[in-house]
Amino acid sequence: MRLGIISDIHGNAVALQEVLIALEDAGVDEIICLGDVVGYGPHPGLCSEIVRGSCSLVIAGNHDRALGDIEVQGWFNPVADSALEWTRERLDDEDLEWLLALPSEAPHAEGPLCCHGAPGAPDDYVLTARDARDALLASACGIILCGHTHRPMACDINGRRQCTWLHWCDGDVVPLEKGHRYLFNPGSVGQPRDNDSRAAYMVIDFARQEASLHRIRYEVGATQRAMRSAGLPEELAKRLATGV
Ligand code: ZN
Repeated sequence: MRLGIISDIHGNAVALQEVLIALEDAGVDEIICLGDVVGYGPHPGLCSEIVRGSCSLVIAGNHDRALGDIEVQGWFNPVADSALEWTRERLDDEDLEWLLALPSEAPHAEGPLCCHGAPGAPDDYVLTARDARDALLASACGIILCGHTHRPMACDINGRRQCTWLHWCDGDVVPLEKGHRYLFNPGSVGQPRDNDSRAAYMVIDFARQEASLHRIRYEVGATQRAMRSAGLPEELAKRLATGV
């Protein structure tokens, strides 16, 4: 069983389509999405439709939840807030209902716990080894999958509760060892923030007991052009070129 994992698409259908082609080439059996299907990007309806049709499990991100929750939207900065207003106006009722019904976390049948932020805390950012250890202690699952930070991350916690930060760049493969627990973040499909503009995704191969991270180029200019013609904030278009 090979599981593809994507997150933080943020309405960038150009990046999403490249990632889905790569996952198909990788022969994955299933794809799951850790949330933020929309927000920031120019293709909210198309991304909702594609994710709904291609993912077996989709978790709600804070941008997805904010569409129906003023309290969540209240935490947004002005740029995110105006992009969310733009997004809400362009989603049809079916997409909106689907996005608002997504679970905030859920276990996958193969064992991993799928979250947007952290287990039991969908808006928390898991950025440090300490955050990862806290997340792993908050859940008994052997593998926890988180998005939200837009930065790929892999941590290993062994029986002594020591958390080790693992190398997790394009092409890296992490063997899943017995007795160890792991936290992975696949990075962002549509708005990476780790100084790498390429779309990010990960694969877990349960037969081989290994996880891998992948980066893929997409036509950033096509998404930027769509954002500019939609009148979305210029800084959102600019940041895609550098991945910050
Ligand atoms: Zn996000």
